[in-house]
Amino acid sequence: MAKPDLVPDYAVEVVDLVKTYGSTGKLALDGVSLAIPRGSFFGLLGPNGAGKSTLINILAGLVIKSGGTARIWGRDIDRDPRGARAAIGVVPQELNLDPFFTPHALLDVQAGMYGVPKAERRTDALLAAVGLTDKAHAYARTLSGGMRRRLLVAKAMVHNPPVLVLDEPTAGVDIELRRQLWDYVRELNAQGVTILLTTHYLEEAEQLCDSIAIINHGQVVACDTTRNLLKRIDRKQITVTVAAMPEALPPPLAPFAPEIRDGNRLVFACKGSTMPISAILDAVRDAGLTIIDLSTEETDLEDIFLQLTSSK
Ligand code: ADP
Repeated sequence: MAKPDLVPDYAVEVVDLVKTYGSTGKLALDGVSLAIPRGSFFGLLGPNGAGKSTLINILAGLVIKSGGTARIWGRDIDRDPRGARAAIGVVPQELNLDPFFTPHALLDVQAGMYGVPKAERRTDALLAAVGLTDKAHAYARTLSGGMRRRLLVAKAMVHNPPVLVLDEPTAGVDIELRRQLWDYVRELNAQGVTILLTTHYLEEAEQLCDSIAIINHGQVVACDTTRNLLKRIDRKQITVTVAAMPEALPPPLAPFAPEIRDGNRLVFACKGSTMPISAILDAVRDAGLTIIDLSTEETDLEDIFLQLTSSK
């Protein structure tokens, strides 16, 4: 007997999820297993065609899986499809809105569709939360792209789901509106809503997400905390520009095997944690060289992403 009110450890759990699209025989998900901890801000990254939308659409009940299991808030999507659907809100990629609906009416209709009793509807509060109080009774066609996006977030939250999925929500949204959107989503996360975000903006994922899964060709190629993922490569490039460089590499520098560019720039590729900058600088000084400039470049998610997805 399911205990719907039991709080699960994982907001979303998928095991060996497989999806083959009938029309093309295309294997879009090839045995994906993921466990998204309750309360996390989880990023799902991957190049175009990786299978991100397929995974999200299966969770949202819009695409039928070919194999495997999926649970949302502990509710199996096969055995308890209504319970699973009630636990998730999805902000779609497209900005499709009926142009003659007002934000207020849209949220009300959506709440009705989810069976939220009139007395429990939070239409005004939701509109206020996404900064659309002024536009509550304006036709949707008069809303800017950013406003539409925020309205879609409010729409996904009408039934107060514990899990909110955002599918590429900031494509085409300008920086200021993106910031507003993230403020609101962060606030929801702080209140305990688990966020699942797909994005192409790696920087955004790096800043927002506490954990990240990278998928490619329908398979999970990495899944870890953002911090561990960034540590995984742990590669730093340090460039030291010296006043003058002797013909032969001075012996103290030999163990570091720098690449020499433009006659006087020494480029050290190293692992940040095992070869601290100080050791390199000491060696440069021991070699009797005068440092005139220094720059470092850290690994970011982009590097990890490229490394993990380019090998296949
Ligand atoms: P992503 O969201 O990561 O870009 P998708 O889940 O949209 O990836 O697509 C994964 C793969 O499945 C792609 O190769 C895509 O062409 C294919 N695909 C997606 N939707 C369909 C569909 N309705 N019919 C056939 N193939 C599809």
